[in-house]
Amino acid sequence: MDIALVGGGIGGLTAAACLLRDGHRVRIYEQARHVGEIGAAVQMSANAVKVLYHLGLKDRLEAQAVKPTAFEFRRFDSGELLHEIKLGEDHAQRHGHPYYQIHRVDLHAALLEVVEQLDPQALQLGYRAIEVLEDEHSASIVFEDGRQVRANLVVGSDGIKSVVRKHVVDADPPVFTGQVAWRLAIPIERIAPAILWVASSGPGKKNPGPRASHGKSWTKTMPAGTRSCGRRLTTWTVTNASAGP
Ligand SMILES: Cc1cc2nc3c(=O)[nH]c(=O)nc-3n(C[C@H](O)[C@H](O)[C@H](O)COP(=O)(O)OP(=O)(O)OC[C@H]3O[C@@H](n4cnc5c(N)ncnc54)[C@H](O)[C@@H]3O)c2cc1C
Repeated sequence: MDIALVGGGIGGLTAAACLLRDGHRVRIYEQARHVGEIGAAVQMSANAVKVLYHLGLKDRLEAQAVKPTAFEFRRFDSGELLHEIKLGEDHAQRHGHPYYQIHRVDLHAALLEVVEQLDPQALQLGYRAIEVLEDEHSASIVFEDGRQVRANLVVGSDGIKSVVRKHVVDADPPVFTGQVAWRLAIPIERIAPAILWVASSGPGKKNPGPRASHGKSWTKTMPAGTRSCGRRLTTWTVTNASAGP
C-alpha cells in the first residue's frame, strides 16, 4: 500500500518503521524543516518496548536507556514509604519486556535511524498539512504551500493539535485541567543515588515520577499549581524565563 503519514514525531516514526518493515511504501510529511527533537525523559513500559524490540532497538535501548528498579511513593513531609511499584526484573517477568526510561531526543534519533535505513526517502521535511480530503478510493493531504499528495491511506501522527484528527472526528480542543507542571533536568552527578527513583506526593502535589534519562541527567516534573499560564501554553518548548509564571 501507498501510505502517507502526517507528522514525524515518536508516533509517526514508529508507525512508519513498522509499515516499512511490512513492505509498504511510506512517506512521512513533517512540518519541520530540520530534524530536531526536544523534551525530557519518557518512560516506556513493556507494551511500548515490545514494539521497539521488534524494530531492532534492543541494543540501543540497553546502551542509552535506564532501567529503574522501582517507583517509591513517599510522604512529602516525612519521607515515609507509602507504596512501592517494582520495576526492573519484576516488570520484565510479569509483562514480557523491560521497563525503560530514555531521553525523548535519543528515542527519536533511534527511530529515525531505523526509518532511514529502511527507506532514506521516507521522511519528507517542510510539509505542513492544512487539510485532508477523502474519496472512495484514496485520501489526499493538502499542504500550506499548495502542494498535495494522494495515498491509499493517510495516518495522522501530527500530535496534540492534529489536522488529521480534525478531519476524522471534528475539532476537539484540549481541555485545561487546572494543573500546570514545570519540567527540569539536573546533571546526574548532582543527585544523591538514594533519591533517583523516588516519587513524592502530598497536598497540592501530583508527581508522576522523576526519571533518569540518557544516564546523564535526571528529570523531574514539578507541580506548579494552577497558574493561569497553563491556559495559554500547550507546548513544552517554553523555558521558565520566557513563560514568566
Ligand atoms: C512533559 C511531557 C512528558 C511526557 N512524558 C511521557 C512519558 O513519560 N511517557 C510517555 O509515553 N509519553 C510521555 N509524554 C507524551 C509523549 O511525549 C507524547 O505523547 C508523544 O511525544 C506524542 O508523540 P506523537 O508522535 O503522537 O506527537 P508529537 O511528538 O507531538 O509529534 C507530532 C509531530 O507532528 C508534526 N506536526 C504537527 N502538526 C503538523 C502538520 N500540520 N503537518 C505536518 N506535521 C505536523 C510535529 O512537528 C511533530 O513532529 C510526555 C509529554 C510531555 C509534554
